[in-house]
Amino acid sequence: MRRVLITGAAGFLGSHLCDRFIKEGYHVIGMDNFITGDKKNLSHLEGNPNFEFIEHDVTEFISIEGGLDYILHFASPASPIDYLKIPIQTLKVGSLGTHNLLGLAKAKKARILIASTSEVYGDPLVHPQTEDYYGNVNTIGPRGVYDEAKRFQESITMAYHRFHGLETRIVRIFNTYGPKMRLNDGRVIPAFMGQALRGEDLTIFGDGSQTRSFCYVDDQVEGIYRLLLSDYSYPVNIGNPYEITIKDFAEEIIKLTGTNQKIIYKKLPQDDPLQRQPNISLAKKILGWEPKIERDEGMLKTYNYFKSMSKEDLHKRDHKDFKDHIKR
Ligand code: NAD
Ligand code: UDP
Repeated sequence: MRRVLITGAAGFLGSHLCDRFIKEGYHVIGMDNFITGDKKNLSHLEGNPNFEFIEHDVTEFISIEGGLDYILHFASPASPIDYLKIPIQTLKVGSLGTHNLLGLAKAKKARILIASTSEVYGDPLVHPQTEDYYGNVNTIGPRGVYDEAKRFQESITMAYHRFHGLETRIVRIFNTYGPKMRLNDGRVIPAFMGQALRGEDLTIFGDGSQTRSFCYVDDQVEGIYRLLLSDYSYPVNIGNPYEITIKDFAEEIIKLTGTNQKIIYKKLPQDDPLQRQPNISLAKKILGWEPKIERDEGMLKTYNYFKSMSKEDLHKRDHKDFKDHIKR
């Protein structure tokens, strides 16, 4: 049986990847330190003989018994609330954590795929973003801790590829959403859906003219799976090119939830990218991949997930971080 290590397994994308690889007949080893993840995301895999879990901080030396065919490095705080609250851990997991995992991949002769991000393009001056764009990142701004960790992650991964001949893959993930996101992680979809469900106003940062392009998780996982099994070592954008302004998006969510909430406007966070849309020509060409799930369908599935939460979960403790985040 092929063995795959997935870091960040208790998080949003990591937990979906565990499911996918189990479905494909792999033995999956999930690793996480729960800094932003949730045990509940993996509870359905308890007792599954093809799944094992190791609680571990990947910035510390990693030891795995037996062989490994693949490593997917998805551990990292990923939302603005998280990386502003734990900036040093964010830098460490992208740098030291990635170094440890590359070392492990080398020792095990495993292929490694690392989760990079559209944030490597910063506030982009090229639109839509193609993989050959170098980006526009403020190294010392508040988002720099995330963006530069990911840029370093790409550099060290390419260095291991060139210097050690390691088989590496780099996915540049654009805004992805779906069930198992953390309700109060501050990212725009859980933020707006949580607000609608709690009967609060929807908070738009800035005037809402900034754009994003949202990809449903199943499409994202399919793209990542194909990239891992491809023979392409350079970065590949995976995301949905359907671009929308945050204001139009808030209105869509109000319609979807039927809640009639008001929209209020708050200050735009520093260095918040004004536009974002992936050019996915490369993924189409080398992976034969493009997203299949329409936003209506993906958003409904996501809303149903949040709607099924208990009242207690809807108002739970990390709501305080969220409240501080939207005060602005
Ligand atoms: P998430 O916060 O839900 O998951 C991240 C997981 O990593 C959490 O379970 C967390 O506990 C774990 N983790 C963090 N630091 C760790 C450490 N030092 N050791 C072990 N585990 C650690 O976030 P997500 O949205 O699932 O993102 C997963 C990956 O995908 C991240 O690397 C992120 O940068 C990348 N990404 C996600 C998106 C998106 O839209 N979801 C976009 C771009 C990139
Ligand atoms: N955003 C917003 N209100 C919120 C949360 C986010 O207007 O309550 C905006 C945010 O400023 C950004 C966009 O929505 O312009 C997407 O934010 P998110 O944190 O989801 O992702 P990222 O900025 O990393 O793309």
